[in-house]
Amino acid sequence: MIQITMPLNFLGSVYREIRQALVDMGEMFDLLEQPAEVTDKPGAPALKVTGGQVELDNVVFGYDAERPILHGISLTVEPGKTVAIVGSSGSGKSTIGRLLFRFYDVVDGAVRIDGQDVRDVTQDSLHDMIGVVPQDTVLFNDTIRYNIAYGRDGASQEEIEAAARAAQIHDFISALPQGYDTTVGERGLKLSGGEKQRVGIARTLLKNPPILLLDEATSALDTETEQEIQGALARAGQGRTVITIAHRLSTIADADRIVVLEKGEIVETGTHAELLERQGRYAFLWQRQASEQEAA
Ligand code: ADP
Ligand code: MG
Repeated sequence: MIQITMPLNFLGSVYREIRQALVDMGEMFDLLEQPAEVTDKPGAPALKVTGGQVELDNVVFGYDAERPILHGISLTVEPGKTVAIVGSSGSGKSTIGRLLFRFYDVVDGAVRIDGQDVRDVTQDSLHDMIGVVPQDTVLFNDTIRYNIAYGRDGASQEEIEAAARAAQIHDFISALPQGYDTTVGERGLKLSGGEKQRVGIARTLLKNPPILLLDEATSALDTETEQEIQGALARAGQGRTVITIAHRLSTIADADRIVVLEKGEIVETGTHAELLERQGRYAFLWQRQASEQEAA
């Protein structure tokens, strides 16, 4: 008996080892497919924001080497100004936001904030300076207070309320039986898209970043709700540098400058009026959306 079970056990352990080795190899290949890890340089200083100028200097980028996504983007957003990036789906708009946030490193060129390359400063300090309002605000299964205060550690109730007021959600919260203590999220009170978005804006306002990145912040909302949120966003943008990525062009017509991106290249730039006059890509997109609106 012993003579038989011993080899079987031995084979069993070999089998387990081989299987484990295959699992490890699989994980290794998964890791190789991940983008090179973005890390802080040793001894990197914190980002110092003086005005909030954002500069993309001949930025080249692709998620993988075979497929370039951005082909040399140069764009400067002066402190306190609003630049809108528009263009077809897949043209690389969100990618620009990800590079600003340094989720990835550029392949060539540089992204700078007030003259500092984002690769040369700590990621924590970079992320502190940029407020992002995404398309869908994710809420934690926690109180509304927590969900707003998440924007900044140690915020007081007064500060939380001020942010909620500016985001035009305070009256809604106050009318709830449990007010700011109401649990929201999957296991709590389900908020509408517009309400969630306003909580997200309040969170960002509390964080009070000098640079704001709005990535199709209102495109998941119906037109009426979108118009309400636009007011809150416009207020949020005052005194900050704003990069706004927009699907519906009507929401960015008063931006200081509009940049039209196609297939990873800037094809036009100007104000709304200038671009309409030009009768190029932007004018085409504008007219198409206007006629879609009429049809709807
Ligand atoms: P936009 O925001 O203008 O719709 P994106 O910047 O999201 O476009 O995407 C630009 C291109 O990059 C698209 O072709 C998209 O498929 C590709 N892409 C986006 N994210 C990734 C990713 N994580 N890995 C690989 N390719 C991606
Ligand atoms: Mg996008």
